Amino acid sequence: MSTTAPPKGSILIGEDVRLIAFRMRQALEAAGYSVEEAADGEQCLAKARMLKPDLVVLDIMMPKLHGIDVLKALRADLKTESIGVIVCAAKDYKADPAQTAELGIHDYLAKPVESPALLEKVNSFFTTRDTEPATQPAPKANDMTSATPYAPPFDEWGNRYALWGCRGSTPTPGARFLKHGGNTSCFCVTYGEDKFIFDAGSGIRELGAEIMRGKRRRIHLFITHTHWDHIQGFPFFTPAYVPGFEITVWGAELFGKDLRSVFRGQLDRDYFPVQMEDMNSNLEFRHLPSQPITVGDVSVTWEYSQHPGATVGYKIDVNGLRIAWVPDNEFLQGYTGDPHAITRDHPLLTPYRKMIHFLGDADVLIHEAQYTPEEYCSKIGWGHSSLSNACLLVKFAGIRRWVITHHDPQHDDDFLQRKLSITRRILRDLDHECSVTHGYDGMTEYL
Ligand SMILES: [Zn+2]
Ligand SMILES: [Zn+2]
Repeated sequence: MSTTAPPKGSILIGEDVRLIAFRMRQALEAAGYSVEEAADGEQCLAKARMLKPDLVVLDIMMPKLHGIDVLKALRADLKTESIGVIVCAAKDYKADPAQTAELGIHDYLAKPVESPALLEKVNSFFTTRDTEPATQPAPKANDMTSATPYAPPFDEWGNRYALWGCRGSTPTPGARFLKHGGNTSCFCVTYGEDKFIFDAGSGIRELGAEIMRGKRRRIHLFITHTHWDHIQGFPFFTPAYVPGFEITVWGAELFGKDLRSVFRGQLDRDYFPVQMEDMNSNLEFRHLPSQPITVGDVSVTWEYSQHPGATVGYKIDVNGLRIAWVPDNEFLQGYTGDPHAITRDHPLLTPYRKMIHFLGDADVLIHEAQYTPEEYCSKIGWGHSSLSNACLLVKFAGIRRWVITHHDPQHDDDFLQRKLSITRRILRDLDHECSVTHGYDGMTEYL
């Protein structure tokens, strides 16, 4: 090396095998570089911080601190982040390109390192550095963050439909019912400025709390029938008590009392501490007309179902989607035989043709299938379908998406899981392709 020429650059060799380090130093010094050595990872990092060399030739496998950890530490420190690094590694070392970019490794040298290869890479480093503008530090993961992040609009208060109560008969709290939920019937479609609620089982209490947090004040409540599990949440429906809410309650004309009287009944002093007079919303009760009920471009139609009393099912046409809500319907009442025996023209279907037709254009059907075929034998006339009979209705109406609701209070999560697999098998056996799921409290689909 010439004693007059200044060194071409400063290099720190991190190498724990002394003989290798010695040979490297010889070759590099002969080529005009100033050289320091470090015998382990810790020493290498300390010397790099102290000497701030232009380049570190870094053995990846070093005692005390792994070469990659030395690198990470160098890059994490403003004072050392721009030091060049050539990594020496075994031939079969597989460089991870992402890590290479992130850590700003200039190049690799395969071990054993031969002097010509070392000089070629080191010279290349300095040539590149001297001819190119100051190298930018390699992009860090954080720099991948775009100035305008990809964020498709998500409005949790947007148009949607959601199940708030999927249980029939009576609420079922408890650990065995967590998955499907324990609230009785309630379903809600949110669209534009309006809330379309179907049934006021215990699920409507929580729905009311959600409505209070939002902006919508127009509520259309459609009651399928006035059995407890479909109205028992109404006294706990907060918006009914708050001025500024407009609530219309729709229901079929009953055989005895009118709709308002039935609702007033459960607010009787003997049953409940507050009365209907305390409900300060603009509350109106109306009987279902024969023509569709329209609110803007949403329409709601109805059809009688097979269930004790005057019970109906609804269909809402909203935003191009028709969703049918029929939680209580004993299809093919009394039939306990093989569903394959019921053909489309079977006389047993006669009383149900209107309902089959009504559901014929539904995109989504929310319908019960409360009893297993065995259970149904002792529940005939209770107003609920056997699983196999409900599958037949789904087939005859041509339903392609079925959400099962009105789960029996005796059926816990494990049982319902098995029941769903039987449902799928029956639909397959009936050669009807249909996506079927069990509804659960909180189940939400955006429109
Ligand atoms: Zn019910
Ligand atoms: Zn009922």
